[in-house]
Parts: sequence; structure tokens; C-alpha cells
Amino acid sequence: MRAAVLRGRGELVVEEWPIPAIGSGELLLRLRGCGLCGSDIAKVAAADLPPSAADAPVGRADAPVVLGHEVVGEVVHVGPGVAGFTGGDRVVAAHHVPCGTCHFCRRDSSSMCRAFKASNLDPGGFSQYVRLPGPNVRHATFRIPDHLSDEEASFVEPLACCLRAMRRGRITAGDTVVVAGLGSIGLLFIQLVARAGATAVGLDPLPDRAGRARALGAHAVTGPEAATGLARDLTDGRGADQVIVTGGGAAVLPWAAATVRDGATIHFFAGGAGALPIDLDQLYRRELTVMTTYSSSPAELAAAFELIAARKIAVAGLVTHRVSLERLAEAIELVRRRQALKVYVTA
Ligand SMILES: [Zn+2]
Ligand SMILES: [Zn+2]
Repeated sequence: MRAAVLRGRGELVVEEWPIPAIGSGELLLRLRGCGLCGSDIAKVAAADLPPSAADAPVGRADAPVVLGHEVVGEVVHVGPGVAGFTGGDRVVAAHHVPCGTCHFCRRDSSSMCRAFKASNLDPGGFSQYVRLPGPNVRHATFRIPDHLSDEEASFVEPLACCLRAMRRGRITAGDTVVVAGLGSIGLLFIQLVARAGATAVGLDPLPDRAGRARALGAHAVTGPEAATGLARDLTDGRGADQVIVTGGGAAVLPWAAATVRDGATIHFFAGGAGALPIDLDQLYRRELTVMTTYSSSPAELAAAFELIAARKIAVAGLVTHRVSLERLAEAIELVRRRQALKVYVTA
């Protein structure tokens, strides 16, 4: 079969890869499509860097590897003992599954579970066929209802990660939340914030992206100072209850600290290089929380699937580019240059 193989830093090559053999409890999918995630792009940029390298993000990939984890496929082989799926089913599947019983899992840190980190699709979504291991079949695979398109279904995993962030960040009705970065993830957050009964303020330098947030009912501006000012205006001068940072890395932190109220949370939803440029005394005196959210759990995947199946979150318009495996590298450049909002890759 063909797969887009990451051979080294920035080097994606479409080449032959063996079709995985499946065992009991497993499924083989023929790929219908796979969303391109910001984390895939970060891994392409950092493959093969030693973990100590200054710009090596957590989760770097060891080449050769096939990335892609927002997978939609058709079941073509069903392993012995699989219940609930048959050949021809259209399904959406995610890559990581926690054990559910370890110390991390019992404390709601399931994305830090060792089994979670070791689990994966085989080889990955940017290939013609994908093997789903047993735990993924049981806990991270959903049959797609007829009314839902492949592209809509591909948002289950990214939306699940956003749901986890909403829960961890404890956004509640009456809050004012600034979402920095209005890529596809930011536009999911805008909708979740509104669903929580909170006021969303979107920030993105691209007017088209700010316009998309406005069309979803949010306030949205194109400049950081305007976002800070608007957050103050909406909160009697206090500042935002939370800033969710979907991109931009550590450099965003001083602005975020100036935009939140005392006692608020700055939520990093994206990785990125650099030490935190903020005075510890300010964190302490203002009782600020800097938090992160990494990936999602099976319960959050199920909740995301329900929301998308019920069309309670608008995802259909987010895909701006559809490419074949051969054009994946090109599409990554478009996302880097912020010309593509969301890319959907087909085999
Ligand atoms: Zn993703
Ligand atoms: Zn565990």
C-alpha cells in the first residue's frame, strides 16, 4: 500500500509500506480520509532531533513513521472476537487509549497513562490501510451515522481534546474567555465556550478568521491590544476569566497575563518552544494559573462524537483544503503559512 512516510526532519515521502496484518479483537480500515493536526506538523518539523535539542517539542516522532490520527475509514477486515463492527462500516477512530486502571487513569490524568502513550494506530492515518488495535476498537472507534460526512466525522478527535480543555479549565456560565488563534481548533473552542454559557472573544491577525468567529456568534478582533481592551470592557475592567492559547508558544504569555483578571487561568492548548517569560512574583501575587491540556480520553471522544453526530458543533465548513497523500507536504506548508484552515488528506 502507499503511505506518506516521515523519513526525517521535514522529509515526507510517499512510498510502499506493508499492509498491516490484523489479529483477534482488531480491525483493518481502508482509509477514507484523515485530518491534518497541528501536532502532526510539529512532529514533521522536529523528527529525529535528540530530545535535548532546544527546539524539540514533547512528542517528537522517531522516523521513519507514518503520522495522522484523525482517521475515517471503511472496515475491510474484522478480527476474531470483535463485537459491534462489520465489513463495510464507516468508522472514525483515534490513536491513543489509556488502560483505565493505573495511578494516572484513576486521577483523571489518562493522557499521561503509560499505556496511552504506547498505544497507536498502525501505521497511521496517512496511509491507505490502518490497523486498529483491540483497545482502540473497544474504546476509540465510532460507527458514523449516514447523515454525517467523512469530513465532519474526522473532527471527533480534535473536538475531544477541546472538550478535555473545557472541563479541565472549568469554564462556566458568565465567564469571559479569550481564544487566541482562530484556526480550526480556535473555532471549535469559540463554539464550546458559547455552549458553556460564557462569552467568547476571538483573536486572530487574519481578518477572515476573525470573521469566521463572528459568524459563529463570538466577538472577534485582529489585534492583541484590542482583545485585551475588549475583555476589560466586557468585565467591568477586571479582565478575562481565561485565555486559551491555541498557538504562538511562550511569546504569547506576557500578553495573556495582561489580558486575564486576577485569579484567572492561562490555558496552553498548544506546545511550542521556549521557557515561560513571566515573573513568578506576578503569578503568585495575582494568583494566576498557567495550565495545559494534552490529548483526550475515551469518555471525551465519546462526548465529542455525540456532539458532532447531533450537529451541535459546526465543523462542516472548517476544511478548506483536500489533498492526496502525495500533496501532504505541500498542504503542511499551506497550514504553516496560515493559508489553509484545516486540511483533510485522502489516500
Ligand atoms: Zn489531532
Ligand atoms: Zn492508565
